[in-house]
Amino acid sequence: MIKPTYDFTGKVVVLTGAGGVLVSHFAKAYAAAGARVALLDLNKAAAQSNADEITAMGGQAFAYECNVLKKESIEAARKAIAQDLGKADILINGAGGNNPRATTENEFHEVEGLDGIKTFFDLDEEGISFVFNLNFLGTLLPTQVFAKDMLEKEHASILNISSMNGFTPLTKIPAYSGAKAAISNFTEWLAVHFAHVGIRVNAIAPGFLVSNQNRALLFTDDGEPTARANKILNNTPMGRFGEAEELIGGVLYLTDEQAASFVNGVVLPIDGGFNAYSGV
Ligand code: NAD
Repeated sequence: MIKPTYDFTGKVVVLTGAGGVLVSHFAKAYAAAGARVALLDLNKAAAQSNADEITAMGGQAFAYECNVLKKESIEAARKAIAQDLGKADILINGAGGNNPRATTENEFHEVEGLDGIKTFFDLDEEGISFVFNLNFLGTLLPTQVFAKDMLEKEHASILNISSMNGFTPLTKIPAYSGAKAAISNFTEWLAVHFAHVGIRVNAIAPGFLVSNQNRALLFTDDGEPTARANKILNNTPMGRFGEAEELIGGVLYLTDEQAASFVNGVVLPIDGGFNAYSGV
């Protein structure tokens, strides 16, 4: 865990997707920096276990079951948070992800040799809607609910999670790439929309990270990078994968009312230079 250099004492931070890999790191960092944190997830048990870790560290954290695609579920969480912790100062829209039903097996379409392979033509309409909704609506709806409380605050901030594929689509994942591009676009839209009411809106775009979820895709049992991992590493000027901890500095910075007081509508790549590199 990095040592926090920001002070969020007195702030209420609401994080969706807080049962997951990345957002749990963010929640712990905010708590270590003095914030009261609300961990929201469809998977209450996962959020609760992260909240328990924070409490054990001496932080103040509560877990809530919340479906970011259901307004009444978000409203219920908002009501409970207001009672337990107070009204939100900061919202981290962290729930999101891809789905195999919206992923092709091939990088390029070819005239021959694709028998038995899931191509672009086989993508499932429901899978595509699922990915679009989870990432885009799943960011918009919690923003509608929690930004209402933020209108009463002098300094409030929203952070969305985009991705490298929001700048340039990655092969195989057209729906996830399109949805993250929509998140980047929405971040700019919202930053403009709330500019007169003191709510700043920014996003991070994480590069390629190793987590327990994707470790098997990126490394063989012997610890050697797979073909896809090598492709990523060859296109990352810093020549390595990132760690979840390395996102924390950007997250805290963008939501800090002093350090980032005039930063609004940016999508910050945290990617070892991947986005800046043309490959040549
Ligand atoms: P994760 O799968 O570990 O966590 C996502 C969490 O969201 C899970 O706990 C899940 O239960 C929850 N969730 C799913 N549907 C929900 C719903 N309808 N309502 C509420 N919660 C729901 O994912 P992660 O790797 O921690 O990713 C967090 C965010 O960062 C996502 O938006 C993801 O797209 C983005 N991102 C991740 C990476 C990466 O390398 N891990 C890179 C770029 C962007």
